[in-house]
Amino acid sequence: MAKSKEDGTGSLVVVIIGVNPVWWGLLGTKQTNEPKLTLSECMDHVMVFVNSHLMMSHKNKVAVIASHTNESRFLYPRRILPGQDQAVESNRLTDGKYEQFAVVNDSVQEELKLLVAHDHTMLHTDTLLSGSLASALCYIHRIEKECKAGEKIKSRILVIKAAEDSAAQYMNFMNVIFTSQKQNIPIDACVLEKDSGLLQQACDITGGMYLKIPQMAGLLQYLLWAFLPSPEIRTCLEMPPAIHVDYRAACFCHRTLIDIGYVCSVCLSIFCTYSPICSTCHTAFKIKAAPGLKAKKRKKTAAAGGSAPAR
Ligand SMILES: [Zn+2]
Ligand SMILES: [Zn+2]
Repeated sequence: MAKSKEDGTGSLVVVIIGVNPVWWGLLGTKQTNEPKLTLSECMDHVMVFVNSHLMMSHKNKVAVIASHTNESRFLYPRRILPGQDQAVESNRLTDGKYEQFAVVNDSVQEELKLLVAHDHTMLHTDTLLSGSLASALCYIHRIEKECKAGEKIKSRILVIKAAEDSAAQYMNFMNVIFTSQKQNIPIDACVLEKDSGLLQQACDITGGMYLKIPQMAGLLQYLLWAFLPSPEIRTCLEMPPAIHVDYRAACFCHRTLIDIGYVCSVCLSIFCTYSPICSTCHTAFKIKAAPGLKAKKRKKTAAAGGSAPAR
């Protein structure tokens, strides 16, 4: 940290939290011996992490995004609605707490209350993670542009994944990952329950850290140990062992993860079964065989010529 103070570099961490009420509700009903974590406890852990990050340097910044089923919302910084230009400076400076901590905590609490109270009709067990990641990238881009001359900010994204993987978002997800790779923004993932193939790829490609925590109740310790240090400092520390990344791609027809499939030679879309017309770019693969006579051979040539097996 001493080094970052000298060269005037701050650090921006954008925390994305899955707040899907269905997933959190189901978690509460599961019969396990392990102590369970509720959404509000998870938020407490995250707030301590966020405050710790702010405490490391006065140049450090944070943003918190909640990822709901079909909405992603900034919990901090708050949206400024028209006619509500200044945030209410209510109970600040009354309890001797560092002002910035109070601002962040109040904002996160208020916005999360509004988000959860809002009536969401279509409920699934996944969240709009790719949308939240895209919002995070846009926000980081804005903050980096707003930096004054001579100032620099290093940004990274931390995903606290509390939901199922959504193969339907595969395309958007991959686009977001490659954008962060290009912008040099590492994506870290702290996975609460089931391993996520998509996030493993995201962390591996962008140089972030992937960690599926063994005990949910100890979330804060994992956050402070593995995710508070920046990726440069992590190389000097004892970190969790590297994971084997599941690099399977999802087919564009059914959004299921496949080992071997067909790739469109024009747009590189992946399919689990052969189809003469690509559903993405509508290219028709010509089959060079006379009708009738070579009907049996047709399937073979089509598979070899029209599209090649993916790897
Ligand atoms: Zn398919
Ligand atoms: Zn195509």
